[in-house]
Amino acid sequence: MINFPTTLDGLYINGQWSAGREHLRVINPATEALLTTVNGGDEQAVDQAIAAASEAFKRWSQTTGAERGAILRNIANGVRDGREHLMKLQSSNNGKPQFEAAIDVDDVIATFEYYAELAEGLDAKQDSNVPLPSDDFSARLRREPCGVVGLIVPWNFPMVTTAWKLAPALAAGCCVVLKPSEVTPLPELELAAIIAESGLPNGVFNLVCGTGLAVGAPLSADPRVARISFTGSNAVGVQVMQRAAETVKGVSLELGGKSSLLVLADADIDLAVELACGGAFFNAGQMCSATSRVLVADELEEEFLRRLQKRAQAIRVADPFDADVEMGALVNQAQYQRVLGHIDRGLSAGARLICGGNRPTDLPRGYFLQPTVFTDVPLDSALWCEEIFGPVVCVRSFSSEAKAIVLANDTPFGLVASVVTADAVAADRVANALQAGLVWVNAPQVIFPQAAWGGYKQSSIGRELGPWGLAAFQEIKHVIRAV
Ligand code: NAD
Repeated sequence: MINFPTTLDGLYINGQWSAGREHLRVINPATEALLTTVNGGDEQAVDQAIAAASEAFKRWSQTTGAERGAILRNIANGVRDGREHLMKLQSSNNGKPQFEAAIDVDDVIATFEYYAELAEGLDAKQDSNVPLPSDDFSARLRREPCGVVGLIVPWNFPMVTTAWKLAPALAAGCCVVLKPSEVTPLPELELAAIIAESGLPNGVFNLVCGTGLAVGAPLSADPRVARISFTGSNAVGVQVMQRAAETVKGVSLELGGKSSLLVLADADIDLAVELACGGAFFNAGQMCSATSRVLVADELEEEFLRRLQKRAQAIRVADPFDADVEMGALVNQAQYQRVLGHIDRGLSAGARLICGGNRPTDLPRGYFLQPTVFTDVPLDSALWCEEIFGPVVCVRSFSSEAKAIVLANDTPFGLVASVVTADAVAADRVANALQAGLVWVNAPQVIFPQAAWGGYKQSSIGRELGPWGLAAFQEIKHVIRAV
């Protein structure tokens, strides 16, 4: 475990650490104990951070991709050197098991390395010729960094959601003001300490811890900010978009989900059960990509439910640092109560509880919940329609592939989906019919920085990762010349 100081500075602006005026209590969700208090910022700190970033942009935007790539590699190496400590911070602050924290930190390293490579490749293609249907003119296409950008991230994958924005923003040549979640600022504070040692010029990266209203709102509204990249809830995403609209800034939004795992009639049931548990209980189900609806072919339903119940009941819920832990704690009291409320409303609506729904009896403290499986969930109930963001899965059977696709697509969200089948042709057919930004076939929820992240409908605006993540931070300029 880590011994935290009583208070931590929550501002890193223009290369300097300082304490803001807002006191953010940071707790360990597995013990409910106070870890430390982070002194976060307000509108004034946001103003200073944007001013520092605007000044730094004059020089950073003129650096070569190779120079930026070298610094991104330094950050990746710094994260690698601090891997164990960062894993402990993730588990202490978020409640996720150490093995999940390791996946997060490795993802951060891979993301910085990937965008280092893209940055290094930018110099050769910053300017490219555009063929025109005229001999009288020539055209040159130029990609430039879009300016100072605001990055606002949630608490469920601290550092990962940050890396997916920060690495491409820096690679593009943008300067950054980052606002981590007030619930989980500790991993980002450590990331900032690593960045401070990476050789990045002062002012290019600025961190302002704080609440959504004190920091996120002024950041979204400020006219000096060219773009906001936000990950979080739909309700807040809408507010961010409304504020950004006043100064016509671009927004990238990564929001909620209500995703399905489809188990076709020829599926390997044990594989389907493993993927259903991974999709619903990883990170205690606090995933935008949670496959909280499982649609299973009629003929497999009974056996699938029997094996899913057995597996869910065997999942070891424990302290995130326990050697055998499979599922840790939910992030805080508010989230815990929200998920319990969903379970209660589901029961009132007539859903049938197969297992779970309560605190594990051996864990009297901490925000722990048993893996929970429902069936017979009414199609108009909140449990079926809304994002639960906890370890709760609803199982429903289907009589035909076409009906399964209708059920899966019947949601305002469209982030991800999973398909389990032995038939490659059926897998492609179903994947093509699903309204989702990412479909996994017979696979756990693996993510690669090379492949896009984002969804259809109300799950996203734009795509993160891959070259799309970089393009989100670039302006396109054409220079047309008479020849
Ligand atoms: P949230 O919307 O409450 O908060 C997200 C961030 O926005 C936090 O940093 C918060 O302080 C800030 N914020 C709050 N009010 C604000 C305001 N008025 N203006 C600007 N910023 C404000 O979300 P959360 O509870 O931290 O995270 C859970 C949500 O995030 C879920 O809905 C989940 O689906 C979503 N999420 C989506 C993805 C994705 O990739 N699509 C990934 C992770 C989480």
